[in-house]
Amino acid sequence: MIPFNKPPYVGCEQDYMLQAIKNNKISGDGDFTKKCQKWLEEYTHAAKVLLTTSCTSALEMSSLICGIEPGDEIIMPSYTFVSTANAFVIHGAKIVFVDIRPDTMNIDEKLIEDAITAKTKAIVPVHYAGVGCEMDVINDIAKRHNLFVIEDAAQGMHATYKGRALGTIGDFGAYSYHETKNYSMGEGGAIFLNNADYLGHAEIIREKGTNRNQFFRGQVDKYTWVDKGSSFLPSELNAAYLWAQLERADEINNNRMKSWKMYRQGLLDLEKRGDISLPIIPKECVHNAHMFYIKVKDLDVRTKLLNYLKEHEILGVFHYVPLHSSEAGLKYGRFHGTDRYTTSESERLLRLPMYYGLKEEEIHYIIDCVYRFFDM
Ligand SMILES: *Cc1c(COP(=O)(O)O)cnc(C)c1O
Repeated sequence: MIPFNKPPYVGCEQDYMLQAIKNNKISGDGDFTKKCQKWLEEYTHAAKVLLTTSCTSALEMSSLICGIEPGDEIIMPSYTFVSTANAFVIHGAKIVFVDIRPDTMNIDEKLIEDAITAKTKAIVPVHYAGVGCEMDVINDIAKRHNLFVIEDAAQGMHATYKGRALGTIGDFGAYSYHETKNYSMGEGGAIFLNNADYLGHAEIIREKGTNRNQFFRGQVDKYTWVDKGSSFLPSELNAAYLWAQLERADEINNNRMKSWKMYRQGLLDLEKRGDISLPIIPKECVHNAHMFYIKVKDLDVRTKLLNYLKEHEILGVFHYVPLHSSEAGLKYGRFHGTDRYTTSESERLLRLPMYYGLKEEEIHYIIDCVYRFFDM
């Protein structure tokens, strides 16, 4: 069976984890965490980066920093992972879903302004498949209406919009280093603060609502409970694992991009025949080959193709069931405007195996199988 995903692994992860153990420092904020954060700041030009226990917790931190309260409204696409919504719902916010663009599966920036009310607090663009949303337009809307912009860049590491790293364009960015993403620390993530003024508050929230970080720096002589917070810092063991992958980040990215281009080249004829659509990358965006998806005619064809691939030992998968039609989505959110593309496009989308180390002959085999299915 060709799996859908293999967690990225470069080889020196254990050495670094052992080093953390030998340093007798496996709790948070040790040398490996600091090295990862510095690397990410230099690589992306973010004002400040803090590692977190997940992208979910990075989103929850953003929600706390923005002071989200019951009744606030948050605008986001419905075609996303549950954490994008949950991070705000746990603080009592109502989610306002707007439709996506069919070309990128990202929030349709042209529909956002109409969804804004007096209660709106933030816009949460999700960079699906590591392809950037139309951030200039989104930031402009946010500025005119005095809203926060929190980028869900869970899939966005190593990708850019107009030359700027995803996650560094809004007020906050949230990355994921879950093992299903391009770079892994098992479970983990990072919050990007694009204005260093938020650092003090972010550090307090991340350290259980205490001023422990200021204490360690000698800025206060004892540490105490000063605000709302939780435990959002990961163990050094996880940071050590990530450090191994950051050192090899370009190699991982090049390998994935090579696979992505092979898929695209190999499937072009099927697109010309009208059997499938291939992903579209806007010219402002450099993506990171997080995902290779195709779109087929409808749900029925997708189900048949997924089964056909499985019979041929290939694990393809579909993706998000739109949140607005889920049990919690009905309770905590509403869809603004018409669902022109969210449901119909999500039903057509099928993801092919994509991971660091996917072999050329495997990609050729997968492409062959897709052709054979449509030639039947
Ligand atoms: C993976 C993912 C998340 C959650 O990431 P975790 O690190 O598992 O919390 C959130 N949003 C999107 C869009 C994702 O793809």
